[in-house]
Formats: sequence, structure tokens, C-alpha cells
Amino acid sequence: MSALPDAVRVLEFEGPFRGTRVTVHPVLILDPQGHLLVDTGLPGQGETLRRLLAQHGAQPATVRWLVLTHQDLDHIGNAPELVAESGAEVYAHRADAPFIQGQRLLLKLAPERLATLAPEARAFFEEWAKHPPQVRVSHLVEDGDKLPVGGGVRVVYTPGHTPGHLSLYLEAHRVLVAGDALVVADGQLRGPRPEVTLDMAEAMRSVAKLAALEPEFVVCYHGGVYGPGAARRLQEIASVGA
Ligand SMILES: [Zn+2]
Repeated sequence: MSALPDAVRVLEFEGPFRGTRVTVHPVLILDPQGHLLVDTGLPGQGETLRRLLAQHGAQPATVRWLVLTHQDLDHIGNAPELVAESGAEVYAHRADAPFIQGQRLLLKLAPERLATLAPEARAFFEEWAKHPPQVRVSHLVEDGDKLPVGGGVRVVYTPGHTPGHLSLYLEAHRVLVAGDALVVADGQLRGPRPEVTLDMAEAMRSVAKLAALEPEFVVCYHGGVYGPGAARRLQEIASVGA
């Protein structure tokens, strides 16, 4: 397999975030019964999400399943708006659900964490901490759960970046949607970034779990697609780190 299957669309979501412009990669899995969206892009930029969905022949109303890989602002950003427009069912892990639902302050917005940031980034996050995006999680998912879309999507519990971080594995196509469990930087697949990972030891155990899947392609929220041949590189990261 030399390319991603046609049903798997990696969005190029570009916009302002913490005082700079960044690109992130929500994943859209097209399915005639309703699409699955993984993560929702940078907060306050629902218009960008709508435009990107339209580029792939989708729209909020045709998104039936929304998987939030974890609670971070750049992933849940437009979930409230999307769910209001689509009525999509929201899937997340129980360890991150209370944060996504607004019952607890998002972990990365904790005051002691913000205190370590440069002033501009701190001001950005402090502003969002006053009115974080919140959405009701309709389904709590666990490791090994299967979502009946795109030929079968397996939930892989990959804590570390946050306590409830999830990845998704499209078994039929050997495509791993890794969220922030891995990143692609300068064209290279890399391990989790320590500065944004809450528990590195846990995160590296999650990398080993992902390596065991032997995916052909890995899609990272930060950096996009890596592959074909991702399994070998992933194995390397799992054994030596970084
Ligand atoms: Zn992220």
C-alpha cells in the first residue's frame, strides 16, 4: 500500500494559536452512513472546520461520529459548534471526559502550568481558561472498542500526553491515527514531545503499544502523515525513545 485509502482524509487546519500560526490535522473518515471526524481543530475557528469539511464533500450535518483523542484545547476547539450543528455522537475516554464536559479545568490550563509559559502564550491560554470549549461526551470508549465506520476502527488507549488520550487504528488499511501520542517533525516520525506530555513514562509505554500494531501509515495531529513503512520507524522510537 503506497497511499492512504481514499476514505481517509487528513485535514490541513491552519490558523492562529497561542500567538503564532500553526497547522493541525483532524482526520475525516468518509462513510456513506455518516462520517467520522477525529478532533476538531483550533478553538474559535469553526468556519475553518466547515470550509475544510466542504473541501472533502462533507459538512457538519453529515458528521455522525466525533472522536476526541483527548482534552487539549487544539483538539476539542470547535467540538461544541460542530455538535450543535450536526448532533454528532461524541466519543472520548473516561479519564478525559470530565475535562471535555467542563466539569474540571483542562489539565494544560492549570495555573501552575501556565505560569511556566512565555507571556503571550500564557495570556492566550488564560483567556481560554475563562470560557473553555465544552461538550457532552455521549459514549465513553475503552481500549479495544470498535467503531463501525470505515471498515472498522479500533480504539487504542494511549495515555501519557493526557490521562485519557486515545488513538484509532483502521485495521483494514493499517492506518494509525495517533493524535498527540506521536508527532511528525521535518518529515520524520518522532516520539511524544516531553514539554506537552504529562506523563512521559506512560506515553512511552503507549508508543510500544502502537508499535505492536505495525501500522503502514501514521497520521499525527501535529505534522500529518508518515508512511508507508511506518512500522519500522515506530519500532525504532519504541526501543530507543525520541
Ligand atoms: Zn495537540
